Amino acid sequence: MAEERGQGTYNAVVIGAGTAGLVTAAGTAGLGGRVALVERHKIGGDCLNFGFVPSKALISSTRVLETIRHAER
Ligand SMILES: Cc1cc2nc3c(=O)[nH]c(=O)nc-3n(C[C@H](O)[C@H](O)[C@H](O)COP(=O)(O)OP(=O)(O)OC[C@H]3O[C@@H](n4cnc5c(N)ncnc54)[C@H](O)[C@@H]3O)c2cc1C
Repeated sequence: MAEERGQGTYNAVVIGAGTAGLVTAAGTAGLGGRVALVERHKIGGDCLNFGFVPSKALISSTRVLETIRHAER
């Protein structure tokens, strides 16, 4: 019988759903393991919410702005 969510035995408990935690949790689940993923703030961690992804969006927008500013060239 399937156990209720949050009950029973887990193969792994991953603390933090940043890049490392998501990969670890997905890998464990992909191998058939039962995994609990605990996140205290935002799923995705620094990469998705504050670092890599948002910074690339800013860089891309700035490049478009630069192209528009010098469009007459
Ligand atoms: C501005 C910026 C730009 C970046 N650009 C790039 C880039 O271009 N390329 C690149 O490869 N990398 C880039 N990085 C680095 C990249 O974001 C990090 O290497 C990556 O986020 C690390 O992932 P992580 O899972 O180890 O940690 P984190 O992303 O920090 O995730 C840790 C998670 O654990 C949670 N947590 C912590 N303690 C607890 C607790 N006690 N209980 C529950 N949850 C907890 C946190 O809330 C967080 O969500 C950039 C970083 C910044 C800041």
